[in-house]
This record gives sequence, structure tokens and C-alpha cells, in this order.
Amino acid sequence: MFENLSSSLQKTFKNLRGYGKLTEKNVKDSMREVRLALLEADVNFKVARDFVKKVQETCMGEEVLGSITPGQLVVKRVQDELEALFGGAHEEFDLTGSPAAVMMMGLHGSGKTTSSGKLAMRWKKHGRRVLLVACDIRRPAAVEQLMILAGQVGCDVLGPEPGETVPQLGKRAALAAKEGKYEVVIYDTGGRFQVDEELVQELKEFEAETRPNNKVLVLDAAIGQESVNVAEAFRDAVGLTGLILTKLDGDARGGAALSVHAVTGCPILMTGSGEKMEDLEPFYPDRMASRILG
Ligand code: GDP
Repeated sequence: MFENLSSSLQKTFKNLRGYGKLTEKNVKDSMREVRLALLEADVNFKVARDFVKKVQETCMGEEVLGSITPGQLVVKRVQDELEALFGGAHEEFDLTGSPAAVMMMGLHGSGKTTSSGKLAMRWKKHGRRVLLVACDIRRPAAVEQLMILAGQVGCDVLGPEPGETVPQLGKRAALAAKEGKYEVVIYDTGGRFQVDEELVQELKEFEAETRPNNKVLVLDAAIGQESVNVAEAFRDAVGLTGLILTKLDGDARGGAALSVHAVTGCPILMTGSGEKMEDLEPFYPDRMASRILG
């Protein structure tokens, strides 16, 4: 992912660095190329437009154009703005509370259950007592999948009882997590193929019962522009404290996922880069910007 964006930007920057002196026209031409590269990578068009406008504004003064290394300064401004686009500072889960509660949400196939297992493993390695809760009661396969992952990770898991509704399960699990003195409880909520009224209602009721301090949307980075709409729908329905972007190891262009912070204002907390339990990394905006700029 991001290979094409990376190589297009690097080409533009090579030209920029080659100029001894930069004119406003050179900057404008380069920014046009940057905008095209972003659009080709599937970055949301408003995000790409605003991005280029901001960089251009900060580059037109004497401070940049009149400097001895103007090209380098323009590249630095692009890097700073890219970092800001991804959220600026690195943000963490809120693991305070007894227990800290993490409500995992997402569409079918986004990687929600896998990411729940990955988080459980990560926190268990850090010495915390973790309880996984399988709340996708309509899909027995999803419950079973979480049970298997919990077994692999070596942490406790709680599933639905016959006839139990999702909010009832949430209430029981929250109580069990408190009584069992768990430090973190991860709720793997039910997925859908789209955000519909039924899902929104279920999530709202579930949230009211469990009052999680982390409301996390898992987004498949490969679903293109739809990722922005999905994130907005979940944010408007229940509020979000953060995002996990999965499948960054795929060959999709990925630009839509890169727009998702700018559009929703939600921090990207982690990224998934494979199917294995170890394939989950904290997200650092500065490192991602450097990775893309090469
Ligand atoms: P859910 O329906 O949202 O719970 O999705 P799952 O957790 O079942 O994941 C759907 C598929 O995506 C599974 O085959 C996972 O192994 C796979 N998957 C999840 N995260 C990643 C990732 O970061 N990279 C890759 N390549 N595959 C992933």
C-alpha cells in the first residue's frame, strides 16, 4: 500500500530539490503534481485540495522562496502537513478504569474480531488481565472465531447465553469483568454489511449498558472512499474515540483511509498489517508521513 503515492511524490520532490532558486510558479506546478498523486492514491478530493492549499500558502513567502535550499523547505512543509493530516501526535487507548472497556465496532470483514484478538494479546503481553466478550450473537461463527483467538492468546472469553440480547450480554459481561477483577474488557460487537438503523440501535443500547471508555471503529483500508462514509456513520451513531486501520499490507491504494482522520477528526490508534496476532502496530503520524515520503 502507498507504493505508487510514494514514488509519485518522490519524483516531484527530486525535481523540487534540483532547483537552486524556486519561483511561485515552480511551487504551484509541484503542488499540482502532489494533488494529482494524492487523488490517484484515492485520497478524498476535499482533503487533497485543502492539503495542497495549506502547503502552498506556507511556501510562498520569502522565508521559503528566498532561502538557499528552497526545494528542501517545500518538502519539509509537505512532510509537516502530511503528519498533521494523519492526526499530528500519536494517541493511545485509554486504559484507565477498572476495568478499562473497549467497544470494537466495524462492518463485516473489516478485521474487527481479528483486531480484538490482537489487542488482547498485546495487552496480555504487557501484563494485563484481559477479558474478551463475543457480542456478535447473530453469527455463531464469529463467536466461535473469538473463542479460538482467545485460546491462542491465552485469555478468558465470555460468549452469549441462549436467548440473551446484545445489551443483556453487555450488562452481564460488564459485571463479570468488574467482579473478575479484569483490567481490560474488549467487546467484539456485531458487524453488518452496512450501517443500518438496526445496527445503530443495537450499538446505542449496548453502549448505554457498558459505558466503554474506548469506542473504536475497525476500518478495512482497502474499501476506498466508502471508508470515510462508514466512519462518519459510526461516529454520528455512537461517537468514536479512535480508529484501527486494517489490511495495510494489501495492494490497495489506501488514500481513502489516509483521509479518514481529516474527515472525521478521530485519531488513528493502530494499524493492522497481516492476519497473524502479532500484526498490529501503534500508529505514529510522523513515521507514516516519513514512510510515504521515502
Ligand atoms: P470481522 O468480520 O470484522 O470480525 O473480520 P475478521 O476479523 O473475521 O477478518 C476478516 C478477514 O480479514 C480474516 O480473514 C482476517 O484474517 C483478515 N484480516 C484482518 N486483519 C487483517 C490485516 O491487517 N491484514 C490482512 N491481510 N488480513 C487481515
